[in-house]
Amino acid sequence: MKAVLIPGDGIGPEIAKSVENITEAMKLDIEWITYQAGAEYATTTKEVFEPGLVDAIKEYKWALKGPTATPIGTGFRSVNVALRQQFATYANVRPIRSFKGIDSKYENIDLVMIRENTEDLYKGIEYMINDNMANGIKLITREASEKICRYAFEYAKMNNRHKVTAIHKANIMKYTDGLFLEAFRDVARDYPNIEAQEVIVDNMCMQLVLRPETFDVLVAPNLYGDIVSDLCAGLIGGLGFAPSGNIGDEYRIYEAVHGSAPDIAGQNIANPSALLLAFALMLEAMGKLEEANQLRDALAAVVEEGKIVTPDIGGTATTTEFTQAIIEKL
Ligand code: NAD
Repeated sequence: MKAVLIPGDGIGPEIAKSVENITEAMKLDIEWITYQAGAEYATTTKEVFEPGLVDAIKEYKWALKGPTATPIGTGFRSVNVALRQQFATYANVRPIRSFKGIDSKYENIDLVMIRENTEDLYKGIEYMINDNMANGIKLITREASEKICRYAFEYAKMNNRHKVTAIHKANIMKYTDGLFLEAFRDVARDYPNIEAQEVIVDNMCMQLVLRPETFDVLVAPNLYGDIVSDLCAGLIGGLGFAPSGNIGDEYRIYEAVHGSAPDIAGQNIANPSALLLAFALMLEAMGKLEEANQLRDALAAVVEEGKIVTPDIGGTATTTEFTQAIIEKL
């Protein structure tokens, strides 16, 4: 099958190469169709996407994306926001699992953060009232709230998880977060075997730090989801091992959570783990569960041994050597 690969900016091409090498080594029946996007592409072409990229995702439905930078102050759109809108990927899903061999304050973390991806304060409805006063609109709809909450409960059901926690601030934002919570309660009624819990966002941050093991699947509107998902990444030692999936009804775009790391770009020392884990998520969703687990296990084994790993996790290996070590485990 064909899938779109967007290497992106900075370290993107180096970590995308790792994905290509692993695809080849595992003899997966995936043919990557590569398209350029991001700030580097924009500087020469004045466009953030290579022509044909959008049509290719429409045709093949699956995409794996490296990090892309947004040229600041140039009027260019963010590639991420443009893709999200174009393909109506309403859910951002981030599994958060501890990795043995990674320095972190917690062990055995196993959470899934599901974030609404299309509305809330990120809708971009902002304006200046006067030179010293700005207004931003928090837009929440019942439709999007029900859709994301149902996605969270379905995810829990399909993945044998037992609890879904809604993150909100409905005590203060009675209409917007109130509507989100109402939708959560309505949807929860359809899943009597899954515990539905409601936690106010500030308390949620504290509870996650104190007792992360008491949570399972988390669902939140866009802004809280953005913040709490990075908090969750902190629980497992940072963004280095954080993949995510942007899920729509028809299209799925997977990516690493970290950025383009311009400070280390071009040196062949970037850690490809997050993009490889995003690739594993994609394989899983394609129904290739065994291959997804093989890839995750091989990666975990190399990281746990800690001998051939990249500098960000305490090693001296290059991206190429690290990838080769994973291939040998496979
Ligand atoms: P960043 O994640 O790129 O880098 C933060 C730090 O982490 C840097 O020191 C970097 O070297 C390190 N790092 C990140 N990924 C790494 C990897 N795979 N291996 C080793 N080290 C890694 O964050 P930033 O510096 O804030 O952003 C840089 C650019 O990336 C910005 O233009 C930003 O807009 C963009 N960005 C894109 C995405 C995306 O496309 N999904 C996400 C975040 C940031």
